[in-house]
Amino acid sequence: MSRTHRLELDDQTLREWDAVVLDSGPDGIVLDRSAFYPGGGGQPPDHGVLLWGGVQTRIVDARKSSDEVYLVPLDTDPLPPPGTAVRGAVEDDRRTALMRTHSGLHVLCGVVFRDFGALVTGGNMEPLTARMDFNLPELPEGFRDAVETACNTEIGADRRIDVRVLPRDEAFALPDIIRTATNLVPPEVKEVRIVDIVGLDQQADGGTHVASTRQVGRIEVVKIESKGKGFRRLRIRVSD
Ligand SMILES: [Zn+2]
Repeated sequence: MSRTHRLELDDQTLREWDAVVLDSGPDGIVLDRSAFYPGGGGQPPDHGVLLWGGVQTRIVDARKSSDEVYLVPLDTDPLPPPGTAVRGAVEDDRRTALMRTHSGLHVLCGVVFRDFGALVTGGNMEPLTARMDFNLPELPEGFRDAVETACNTEIGADRRIDVRVLPRDEAFALPDIIRTATNLVPPEVKEVRIVDIVGLDQQADGGTHVASTRQVGRIEVVKIESKGKGFRRLRIRVSD
């Protein structure tokens, strides 16, 4: 169990907060409270800064081990010693772009499953650009345009994106969750965080998301690649 309270899981809009350094060393900095997303589920870690006593420590990476969230400072910046009170800030441009992109991928995933019955096999994202792999042996005529149009229709519908935490049994009773995540969540995990694009897509997910689909902006399907054995890689771009 991490000693860090994960503020970004409670409030995805939070960008600044006060915290105390619990540990700092070669592995990185551990805070009692942090809103730095440490990476996972295809979403890269946040960047940002810790301010303390007139000093700034730039955070260029973050990662989660089984028991801690480590913030990785720029190696030329000073390391705040344990016990230091700091003001943490997450770089808003990068995080907001990643939230839009991550939610955009869930829209894509929901649309491709609903309209073509294809399951996701993998994915990855950078701010405003992403790829998602689907098990899709046949590529129907007009697939790219149909997917792009349907994604932007769902964005225009401004569907709410809700986050809730459910007991494991209850979460896995949701049909959508069985489709996406049953085998991905380790057995010792007793509570499952669900990201629900209401009426379109529900997934077990630890990432950060915008509050409604309209905030994604616009999705462009820029490329479809064939990866063999029926796997298709869709590359998307997110814009305003
Ligand atoms: Zn996700």
